[in-house]
Amino acid sequence: MDITIVIPVYNELSNLPSLFERTDKVIGQMGVSAEWMFVHDGGNDGSLEWIKSLARRDERVRYIDFSRNFGHQVAVSAGLDHATGEYIVIMDADLQDPPEIIPTLYSEALKGYEVVYARRRQRKGEHFLKRWTAGLFYRILRKITAVDIPLDTGDFRIIHQKVAAVLKQMPERHKFLRGQIAWAGYRQSFVEYDRDERLGGKSGYTWSKMIRFALDGITAFSDFPLRLVTYFGFIVSFIAFIVGLYALYSRFISGDYVQGWASLIISVLFLGGIQMIAIGIIGEYISRMQSDIRKRPLYVINDHNLSSISKQNDNS
Ligand code: UDP
Ligand code: MG
Repeated sequence: MDITIVIPVYNELSNLPSLFERTDKVIGQMGVSAEWMFVHDGGNDGSLEWIKSLARRDERVRYIDFSRNFGHQVAVSAGLDHATGEYIVIMDADLQDPPEIIPTLYSEALKGYEVVYARRRQRKGEHFLKRWTAGLFYRILRKITAVDIPLDTGDFRIIHQKVAAVLKQMPERHKFLRGQIAWAGYRQSFVEYDRDERLGGKSGYTWSKMIRFALDGITAFSDFPLRLVTYFGFIVSFIAFIVGLYALYSRFISGDYVQGWASLIISVLFLGGIQMIAIGIIGEYISRMQSDIRKRPLYVINDHNLSSISKQNDNS
């Protein structure tokens, strides 16, 4: 098998037919052997039935059906776990990642790169707030992490089976694949493309999923927020020390003092705020440690047509 195309699917019925048609056409032109790995991440719009009927007609089509919605990153991870191709393409189901780029990605990979990611020149049809927050997030993330996570890229990329094997060895529950792939190293390259609008349906990424995703990216690859808390603590303590000296001076030496309600309440509130932020940040890390310690399976498979795992041994 030359190529596995991993596609996470969450309510994408309106896009699946043209997705398969366009990828199939591209694969045909490339003259490579390929398999499609649809990961059905919950949802109820009939996507699964469509995929199953496709799988009956076309033996190159594999699917994994999750028992519920586990999220985009987990769906992609499951696809990578079971992909058998020498190279693996990761792409969205909504055709925002144009299949016509796959030959370029593949030929770049064949030049000797284990990772070739697709970098977007522009993003069409996305709300300016999403573009702006995403842009800001990746620039901050780059500043505060040690791994070199490429800017303006999503998960649309081709990776060698070797890289997928590294990812399988990373047991963390809170997946941030683009960071993990950057961490894995190997020779990496990129090609540029224009990101299209979603063909049909609506985005499955709600704001709360996006915020969780951003927090996963930061906490998985940076200790900066924790360190920030320490810095804050030092700065605030230093200010408090100076203010304390001043208070003593005015109380006992200059004798010029007022009943300091304002300063009192301000400092109490200020310290309270800092402490809450600090506790919150520490809590973010602890909750991630907690979920890694629990060692629950990353996902639960309800149904599949994989040859590599037996139906009895379903819980991966
Ligand atoms: N997706 C998923 N699980 C989710 C949300 C999304 O598998 O909980 C899939 C979705 O079907 C699509 C890809 O992840 O193939 C990207 O999602 P979407 O297009 O909604 O995100 P956006 O492009 O808006 O960031
Ligand atoms: Mg999309």
